[in-house]
Amino acid sequence: MELRILGIHHVTAIAGNPQQNIDFYTGLLGLRLIKVTVNFDDPGTYHFYFGDDMGRPGTIMTFFPWPGAPRGRRGTGQVTTVAFSISGESLSFWEERLRAAGIAAAGPVARFKEQVLSFFDPDGLQLELVANKDDRRSGWAEGPVPAEHAIRGFYGVTMSIAGYERSASLLTEILGFRKVAESDSCFRYAVGEGSPGSLVDILSLPEAPRGQVSVGTIHHIAWRTANDEQQLGWREKLVDQGYNVTPVQDRQYFHSIYFREPGGVLFEIATDSPGFTVDESPEQLGTGLKLPAWLERQRQQIERVLPPLRMPASARER
Ligand code: ZN
Repeated sequence: MELRILGIHHVTAIAGNPQQNIDFYTGLLGLRLIKVTVNFDDPGTYHFYFGDDMGRPGTIMTFFPWPGAPRGRRGTGQVTTVAFSISGESLSFWEERLRAAGIAAAGPVARFKEQVLSFFDPDGLQLELVANKDDRRSGWAEGPVPAEHAIRGFYGVTMSIAGYERSASLLTEILGFRKVAESDSCFRYAVGEGSPGSLVDILSLPEAPRGQVSVGTIHHIAWRTANDEQQLGWREKLVDQGYNVTPVQDRQYFHSIYFREPGGVLFEIATDSPGFTVDESPEQLGTGLKLPAWLERQRQQIERVLPPLRMPASARER
């Protein structure tokens, strides 16, 4: 069996205020809130998933909101930037949209062949919009952003690494990535088709301080694998290479294994199936608090500790 990573599955970050997080990612960025659940390892914390209409792998940005927690520190051993993909014709639309919302964006600046707009979410998480002609995905067409300008999904991520060589060899020698570009201290790797959603930039920062996970930082990145059989194959291969890999975890919408890459970033390998319609119809996605069977009997206690939410308009209407 040939093992394959298909690109980015999802990226998970820590937010502060849950309502502010929903309002920013749905109201301003125009992603669809596709699932409201809890952190299965900490059920007193929400887990929000944002993405395209179905929450397809490669579009899924997720958050654990920790209201009242201090901000984290961006630094090495982290994914420090999440880049979303937009059409090559959408840069001025987004410049204006961000300006109208009072968000200071830097750029657009050229990075490799693309133009990049850079800004921060309300918790200080660094985001980018990368204008490109290579993305055939359509994004969430029924949100507040006109379909032609909608975010298509991820373009890629940037990992900040102190000793980048070992991280690079994990990508290229084990996970099947190839180096596709480099400039100064930035090295770009692609996996699979190498299209938007399957790119990772490693920023080599030997002198920079180590990051600290809290509000406004990325918790982990998950890579896509097709199915459970592939995932078990990956687990075996990584264990053989000396990685400390968790057993398979049932995340309800996908199955997951986790391990830390040599530079300190928490990696997950997640399956494409079963997906977000396992407990809600496509029309209803993200409209109510969903709990897996093993937490359903604690629903009352869980709902009592979670802060109330005002759902986005697109979810309310449905
Ligand atoms: Zn995850």
